[in-house]
Amino acid sequence: MNRSKTTRTRVQLQALFLFLMMLAGLVVSNHLLNAAVVASVGASSTVREFQVEIRGITMGKVPYKIIVVADPPEERCLEIKQAVVAALDSVNQLMSTYRPDSDVSRFNATDSTEWFAVDPETALVVQRALEISRMTDGAFDITVGPAVNKWNFGPQKNVFQPLSDRQVAELQTLVGYTHLQVRLEPAAIKKTIARLQIDLSAIAKGYAVDQVGAKLESMGFQRYLVEVGGEVTVRGQRAGGGNWIVAIESPDAKQATNAAASTIRKTSLNNVAVATSGDYRNFHLYEGQRYSHTIDPTTCRPVNHLLASASIAASDCMTADAWATAAMVMGTQRAHQTAAANGIAILTFTRGDGDYTQQRGGDYPLVTEEPVTDDVAAKIRTGNKNSIAPTFLAALAVFLLAVVGMAIGAIVANKPVTGSCGGIAAAVGEDGESSCMVCSKPVSDCTLPDAPS
Ligand code: ADP
Ligand code: MG
Repeated sequence: MNRSKTTRTRVQLQALFLFLMMLAGLVVSNHLLNAAVVASVGASSTVREFQVEIRGITMGKVPYKIIVVADPPEERCLEIKQAVVAALDSVNQLMSTYRPDSDVSRFNATDSTEWFAVDPETALVVQRALEISRMTDGAFDITVGPAVNKWNFGPQKNVFQPLSDRQVAELQTLVGYTHLQVRLEPAAIKKTIARLQIDLSAIAKGYAVDQVGAKLESMGFQRYLVEVGGEVTVRGQRAGGGNWIVAIESPDAKQATNAAASTIRKTSLNNVAVATSGDYRNFHLYEGQRYSHTIDPTTCRPVNHLLASASIAASDCMTADAWATAAMVMGTQRAHQTAAANGIAILTFTRGDGDYTQQRGGDYPLVTEEPVTDDVAAKIRTGNKNSIAPTFLAALAVFLLAVVGMAIGAIVANKPVTGSCGGIAAAVGEDGESSCMVCSKPVSDCTLPDAPS
């Protein structure tokens, strides 16, 4: 009798313990989910501010990241995600060289030298591209496509083989922005030589950033960071106040032994667009020689100089993007001279003796250097750009118990578990993973390490 009473008491105690565990799980989980949406709280402010972070892939394989100060974040997250995806898809649909039905591919497929009707947005981008071609004396040139393809940087990848002089001379007859015309009313573009092609790869990402920003503003958001493939625009202040802090990847970030990788460079951005172009991410190596994906349109050969990366700051990202590529074509000295002549803010890293020389021109935002912590260095070494992952894993380990409790609680309540983003499960990226999350880290951490283009 006594024994059965003791057993019953023990069972009751176990049930109570389990119940308390579940309760604790629910309370802790709920607290954590709430904490996860608290992006930042200004030191002098008692007002909690939230930011929504959305990540995904666009234009084939270009990663993007959008952070929006939004309140209430759960309700607005999905709406932001849908608007962002729509804006990016629309640019891709018009300007992709990979889609046969894009304006660009259709124009490239025709031999006609008549006016060719395009979307007004395509015409606008082509118009800006031609302006920048003139400003940079042809260093930026969207007719460089055939050379890009022949040098094996286009959509069709073959085994790389350097081109012969004869092949290069042939390319030069096909390339030249002066063979391209544009009009906005009605929107159309025109080639004066039948085989002329256009490639908007060096300007479309910047334009996509601008389009996402414009969309967010039309939805009433005035504080955001938009990044597509390393091209960034920020507006307003980040959650909690203050400028957006963006890291500039070291030109040799993947080579951990290099001295340049021991420091991380950050810029504090305020209502500005910044785009970076570098020769260190996309290139061919052939018999010990490096062939850059930036093609000099006048020689129709990959550029070959000591400029490792160029960043441009401008009021719009389309301009910054195109100028960054132009700077890579021009090389350090000419890039700085041309930028100065056109009032363009520029930052360059030029290869020196085992290190890099940094040069700032115009009112390019100040760059600060900090020693890289061991974990960030490891992340850079492995090329892991997903800075939120370690935190996520740590949180996962610490709160596993709490999540179990929450799951049991949800089963008991017969209610589906909803994400912190409100309908997060529906917001699935191309990789099949949820791509809608709320940034729970200071923005500087969320944007580290930043990928240049
Ligand atoms: P990323 O694609 O890494 O952002 P860029 O913005 O510099 O780099 O764009 C490089 C792409 O632009 C190349 O892959 C090619 O398609 C195209 N391109 C190469 N050289 C030029 C050039 N001189 N002017 C315009 N576009 C170029
Ligand atoms: Mg560019």
